Amino acid sequence: MKRPPLILYLLGALWILPLTLAGAVLALIYVPIGVRWSDGLLEIRTLWIIGSPGAQTIGLIMFYTDPEERDRPRLRVHERVHVIQSMLWSPFAFAPAWLLHWAVNVMIVRPKPEDYPDYLPMRDRHGNPEPLWWRAYAAICWERQAYRIDHEFAEGKRPGAWGS
Ligand SMILES: [Zn+2]
Repeated sequence: MKRPPLILYLLGALWILPLTLAGAVLALIYVPIGVRWSDGLLEIRTLWIIGSPGAQTIGLIMFYTDPEERDRPRLRVHERVHVIQSMLWSPFAFAPAWLLHWAVNVMIVRPKPEDYPDYLPMRDRHGNPEPLWWRAYAAICWERQAYRIDHEFAEGKRPGAWGS
């Protein structure tokens, strides 16, 4: 997704302020050890993140543990897709809906790697299926969208994506 114009970014930032404040509380639980501002997000290095993803974004706060991972262009684009998603789905609905979809995936869908495109992280580097809780995460509709967009960005199909 393209970087939003400044006025829309500012309005969106105000709109998702409740989510950003929730992220600020989460930052304390994750134990912050570094912070910087980068391309519209407050990037906070923490000691840990639940599930150990490359990064996690809540409102306008992106958490990460590994600076190399933080600077990976695909990840930067991916995390900013989630910011737009939370603006579009509302700061109140996005996180509960995300969690609900994860729970539905764990209990009902039970995603199999072969049913999803290659760019979704459904298998480990040895080609073995990731655990169900991880596959359930990768199959959440908003994750699929973010992975599709960061994949297309990596293929050069989305020049100027937000975060690039
Ligand atoms: Zn994601």
